[in-house]
Amino acid sequence: MSQYIFIKEAKQFFARVKSSSRILLISHSNPDGDAIGSVIGLRNYLKDNGIDSEIAVPNSYPEYLSFLDEPRKIKVFCDKPNETIDLADKADLIIALDFNQLSRVDELEKHVLDSKAFKVLIDHHPMPDVNSFDLVISNPEVSSTAELIFWILMTIEEGKNDKAVQNRKPIINEEVARSLYVGMMTDTNNFSNSVNSATFLMASILVESGVDKDMLQHLVFGGFSESRMRLLGHMLLNKMVIVGSYGAGYITLSEEEQMKYDFSEGDSEGFVNLPLSIKGINISALFTEKGDHIRVSLRSTNEFSVNRLSRLHFNGGGHERAAGGKLYIPFEEVSAYFEQSLAVSFDECMKKN
Ligand code: 5GP
Ligand code: MN
Repeated sequence: MSQYIFIKEAKQFFARVKSSSRILLISHSNPDGDAIGSVIGLRNYLKDNGIDSEIAVPNSYPEYLSFLDEPRKIKVFCDKPNETIDLADKADLIIALDFNQLSRVDELEKHVLDSKAFKVLIDHHPMPDVNSFDLVISNPEVSSTAELIFWILMTIEEGKNDKAVQNRKPIINEEVARSLYVGMMTDTNNFSNSVNSATFLMASILVESGVDKDMLQHLVFGGFSESRMRLLGHMLLNKMVIVGSYGAGYITLSEEEQMKYDFSEGDSEGFVNLPLSIKGINISALFTEKGDHIRVSLRSTNEFSVNRLSRLHFNGGGHERAAGGKLYIPFEEVSAYFEQSLAVSFDECMKKN
């Protein structure tokens, strides 16, 4: 029913899930919509099938995603380290979602590595770290981890009841459907990046399953605070820099500005895409000052690999057209550092893979 077929992997995955008694779902630090949508969607699907599981993430997620986690069940390592470590130690199955390297779970990494649990990775980033996992279901062609999970669940359901799937009856309950829809919608920046025909088919099936797409649109992309809108105006007017010679644009967001505009986690969602709506700009970056480091977000709309740029200069990685990382330099130096990284590596990042 879609171009993605995961019969062998889905069978193996579901058999392992059914034979496990302490299941832990984990996702990456600074969890985004795909991370939270994926863990909650899968947890609810398992619950529907009579299987209990717990969720742990390294640090907290933005407030606008909290409606998916009601009542709050996700364990956040930064808030409750001992409880989270205990979950990893005692788990017999750990399912890692939406990241390709264990270093992305920060301090949880060593506890996951030490755990005797069977480890499964379900992800859509290139070059997954296959050595750290016992089963890897990975496909970088898929829009989001939420979509990958959706097609795995459809395959599992198909194995249970062919007719229901062929007739496209709602077989995914609304709670699962809503989470997976949010994961896909946020990772594709509202259906604008990495969307395949299968993604629309998924959206269609989820809407048939009862998802209120207009409400989700409002909850995720609307309802911002006034100060966030003022910050956006300030960023565009005063902080966006265009480097025409490389077709690049970037924005820097200091801690002082965050304080002034009453910044909260998630307020800068989408800022990184802003320079890309300018004609001739195909590469963009957002640098956010965060205590001892700078958070880096990178995007491109052509063959320029921001994954490669991030690996080379920003201690990170990601997808070819959406990547991130961290920098440990004084914030005042970030503009020069970025422009220098383009000067040094532009040609290499433009190379066809
Ligand atoms: P964002 O800019 O939305 O934070 O991240 C864009 C993409 O880059 C996401 O797919 C994310 O998984 C990846 N990414 C973000 N930060 C890091 C990082 O520190 N290391 C690696 N390897 N990937 C990252
Ligand atoms: Mn993702």
